Amino acid sequence: ITEALFEGLARRGDAPILIDGPSGAAMTGAQLEGRIRACAGGLRARGIGPGDVVAIMAPNMPDYATAFHGAAFAGATVTTLNPTYTTEEAAHQLRDSGAQMLVTVPAFADLAAEAVQGTGVTETVMMGTTGPGSLEALFGPPLAAQVAVDLARDIVVLPYSSGTTGLPKGVMLSHRNLVVNVDQTAEIIGITVQDVTVGFLPFFHIYGMTVLMNCYLSRGAAVVTMPRFDLEQFLSLCQTHRPRQLYIAPPVALALAKHPMVDDYDLSGVEFILSGAAPLGGDVAEAVGRRLGVEMVQGYGMTEMSPVSHFTPPGQNVPGSVGPTAPSAESRIVDPETGEDAAEGEVWVRGPQIMQGYLNRPDATAETVTRDGWLKTGDLGRFDEAGNLFITDRVKELIKVSGFQVAPAELEAVLLTHPAITDAAVIGVPDDSAGERPMAFVVRSDPDLSEGAVIAHAAEHLAHYKRIARVAFVEAVPKSASGKILRRLLRAKVGEDMA
Ligand code: ATP
Ligand code: MG
Repeated sequence: ITEALFEGLARRGDAPILIDGPSGAAMTGAQLEGRIRACAGGLRARGIGPGDVVAIMAPNMPDYATAFHGAAFAGATVTTLNPTYTTEEAAHQLRDSGAQMLVTVPAFADLAAEAVQGTGVTETVMMGTTGPGSLEALFGPPLAAQVAVDLARDIVVLPYSSGTTGLPKGVMLSHRNLVVNVDQTAEIIGITVQDVTVGFLPFFHIYGMTVLMNCYLSRGAAVVTMPRFDLEQFLSLCQTHRPRQLYIAPPVALALAKHPMVDDYDLSGVEFILSGAAPLGGDVAEAVGRRLGVEMVQGYGMTEMSPVSHFTPPGQNVPGSVGPTAPSAESRIVDPETGEDAAEGEVWVRGPQIMQGYLNRPDATAETVTRDGWLKTGDLGRFDEAGNLFITDRVKELIKVSGFQVAPAELEAVLLTHPAITDAAVIGVPDDSAGERPMAFVVRSDPDLSEGAVIAHAAEHLAHYKRIARVAFVEAVPKSASGKILRRLLRAKVGEDMA
């Protein structure tokens, strides 16, 4: 993957390729290549290479790419940690992945010192600083060529799944998995050396890692990094850098559709916005498109697919769809009960971007990937006649009301069409007569909005069995770093209230 990256860096040459959003500090293509080679040389001098694991726990910053590709070029495996993890969560991933080195930032020094206890990590290195213990202090003689690895099989990165449905799982991705997925997407989006994007999607998660860090840099295109999402900073960076394309997740789409601040900024350079990682209601997508005068499309993927399997090429938006299957991949819809092809059912994907398996979890791997290579996504969907995929929701999230299946995503999309509802999440709660019924958690902009009004609004647009039984007004909907609603936290909340 780093060889592919170097082609892009050479094309960029002495122009900035990574720009730190908050400070404006820039790194050119040539500088990044030099830093990656020096980092790889330093790792080799410490004996780190094939079979070894380097962990990165940091927000987005230009040197993230140095550490990531330095380790990859040295033939090692990188595991990326969510920088909002607690000590226990970080320690779990460090142990599970077998990491020997941790690359982090001074803000996490205390957490890191505690998290490495009892793990295999023997050295912690700091980015964003100089002097002893810094990433720069680790740099060694530049490594001339990538340490030989089996590109199809050796694991270059171990990202962890988001942990939306359970404990995050370590996903084994090869160099080829990443290179293929970069090619499957970058070509069709048409990313060129003239392009720049504003990158707040976290690099530790597969969406930001592949689509921002690897697609952009390997095409010689620039990324303005943001350490965390902040609407005002994002809008202001978009106004300054004038990206043509943006990559977002549904919570940001919601802000772009509804937040008054959006009107204060000039986003006229933006042509194409792609949302992925979680369901995006059709009305929200349309509102963003209309308000900004852009094409607002969707893509679909998961960590296990490096991550993209479906996405909408520019100019081909089909409202509500995540688009056609990526080139060189195949997908089908299967009845999860019988394993037979079906009109509506579980989405299965096969192709060169599918993972090598889950780390330390042969049981989970066998349950998820069939012998002939089909990945069972756990998501429900259907195709239109032109082969565009529509995702309904996760199989596991469906609410079972008197034998009918209700998708929370559909109810959430309807709730968001109400002008006084700024965010919403739906879960199933136990019900004596129906087994389960939908309960909504609603963030309102008007304090007078009542439970009855919310229920009536939904009832107007939905069949009777999808009726919302209860409403709780909340300050915010809990979401993961990758923009997914954390329904398990909402379920726990209901459990506590009933206890
Ligand atoms: P875990 O597997 O640990 O429970 P996760 O599945 O949320 O966590 P990711 O790999 O980050 O971890 O997310 C993949 C999931 O995101 C998909 O299975 C799907 O449910 C959801 N998703 C991604 N893109 C879309 C989309 N455009 N529309 C609807 N859902 C999407
Ligand atoms: Mg998953």
